[in-house]
Amino acid sequence: MNRVSHYLQEHVSGEVMTSVDARSYFSTDNSIFSLTPSVIVYPKNENDIRKTARFTWQLAERGRVVPITARGNGTDLSGAALGSGVLLVYPAHLNQVKFYDAKTAEITVEAGINFGKLQQLLQSYERFIPSAPSSLEYSTLGGAVANNASSRRSFKYGSMRQYVKGLRVVLANGEVIETMRLNKRELNRKLGLSSLEGEIYRSLDALLEENKSVVEKSTLEVTKNSAGYNLADIQDKDGSFDLTPLIVGSQGTLGLITEVTLTSEPYNGKSSLITAYFNSAEDLQSAVLELRKLDEVPSAIEMVDDTLLTSVASENANYLKEVVDKPYPKFILFVEYDNVNEHDRNKGVKKAVKILGKYSDTVNSETDTDKQKLIWKVRDASSIISGHPHGKANPLPLIDDGIVTPDKLAKFLSAIYDQFKKEHMQVAIWGHAGDANLHVQPILDLSQVGDRQKAFRMLEDFTKTIKELGGSTTGQYNEGRLRGPLLAKLYPDDVYQLFNKVKKIFDPYGTLNPGVKINVSTDEVRPLLRDKYSLEHVYDHLPLS
Ligand SMILES: Cc1cc2nc3c(=O)[nH]c(=O)nc-3n(C[C@H](O)[C@H](O)[C@H](O)COP(=O)(O)OP(=O)(O)OC[C@H]3O[C@@H](n4cnc5c(N)ncnc54)[C@H](O)[C@@H]3O)c2cc1C
Repeated sequence: MNRVSHYLQEHVSGEVMTSVDARSYFSTDNSIFSLTPSVIVYPKNENDIRKTARFTWQLAERGRVVPITARGNGTDLSGAALGSGVLLVYPAHLNQVKFYDAKTAEITVEAGINFGKLQQLLQSYERFIPSAPSSLEYSTLGGAVANNASSRRSFKYGSMRQYVKGLRVVLANGEVIETMRLNKRELNRKLGLSSLEGEIYRSLDALLEENKSVVEKSTLEVTKNSAGYNLADIQDKDGSFDLTPLIVGSQGTLGLITEVTLTSEPYNGKSSLITAYFNSAEDLQSAVLELRKLDEVPSAIEMVDDTLLTSVASENANYLKEVVDKPYPKFILFVEYDNVNEHDRNKGVKKAVKILGKYSDTVNSETDTDKQKLIWKVRDASSIISGHPHGKANPLPLIDDGIVTPDKLAKFLSAIYDQFKKEHMQVAIWGHAGDANLHVQPILDLSQVGDRQKAFRMLEDFTKTIKELGGSTTGQYNEGRLRGPLLAKLYPDDVYQLFNKVKKIFDPYGTLNPGVKINVSTDEVRPLLRDKYSLEHVYDHLPLS
């Protein structure tokens, strides 16, 4: 890698590092994998990224593939922020707000900006991005966009993809493009370009035209999805064309995002929160399905189960104080209304309480902000579970983001309990009940051969369950290296082949984050499994959930 690092040291204005320490620090993200980069670059500006991409493209033309991986804060749970070649670490310099339009409330920022700071700034304009992940204080906007991250409020507002209006992207050969929705005339202009950008528009346009029925099959039925490439939203019925929804969620495998233009929602900070206790998964599902039909859409429908409550009670009972006492219900559902208009909020609460009362003996509604904070603490106590080692074993981000259609929520819960029973393991379940997107973390000791094998077996079994239930293995975290090898099992073969062709159009030499999302096998991933898991990249902040 000497030649590459020397070239970069001479040609980029940001810092270039190859020290053992730096490479070791960046060899992990928040996944169960480890992969040491050869060179770390803190790009000072977009030009540094362009030069890096152009250089690796030229090397690839001569047969030498040096991978480039974009990295925000490395909180990725799927191993996608790791790479063996050049790691471009954004937050050091590429963290500025470029433009805020008070009329449209659109904001343009550099991709390495801290998401928490961006949210704070927007809130000072009484706006916010509701799909910000709970890790926003310690992650970048670029990482959230590249993962198509989402939040508990995605139930009402959708994922990051809904908020990204346009991007500036460095392509694999170092060209810079701007993406946005293009009308037919604008598209024609792009189709005529004699650059890689032109080639991408021409090839993609033709590919989508020739494979309309396959594109239709590429949308899974779930309410949110970060798996695969989003092909369905590129072409619109009106003939318009946009690369933005494709690049959002592509985990740096199609291009390197340098700037993002976002829309936002009005923010008022006021909400009402209802809690309801359930004794069966069937009652929980029935309530969720009825809530989903309401015209007054809740902003969040979240849940925790009794194992989570019992585990939290033994670790830090303070989290449950003044909210829930023993004996714990099987499930607690949290239903939030965040309407700016108080009348609308109350109307929603009234209807939701009525529905919940049909299936639950204990329904409470709370408007006091401090008391709501105490209640949310119970839901967010999942961080106590995630962050708590059990001797040498740790709760692992392994099968933690499955999603099915909400009418299969009860079946999904029961399949998870069965899977863990089969493995003789206890399981706590929490997550986004309204979307049937559930989080679970098996506790395994990665220094033990048996547990390492179990990890992959559990992942395979879980994927089979998800496939049977017609869901997706990832509602928000994306597949990365973890679920990448399973992508071909999740989608029909012709859809997977189409994903492959799209990747090839953008990245013909395979320099952009190879081994992530697509074209990766379990055999390639297995040796990357760490022998000790740790949450080291989030210890500067308190994980929320
Ligand atoms: C405790 C905890 C809680 C979490 N909660 C949530 C949650 O609520 N919802 C959720 O969706 N996720 C969650 N995550 C996952 C993760 O934190 C988010 O996806 C986060 O937005 C990633 O941001 P990052 O800056 O850390 O990105 P990184 O981890 O650095 O990168 C993530 C991916 O984006 C790519 N990437 C980064 N920057 C760019 C760029 N400029 N151009 C192209 N590609 C780029 C990387 O190559 C990688 O593939 C959580 C993680 C942890 C550890």
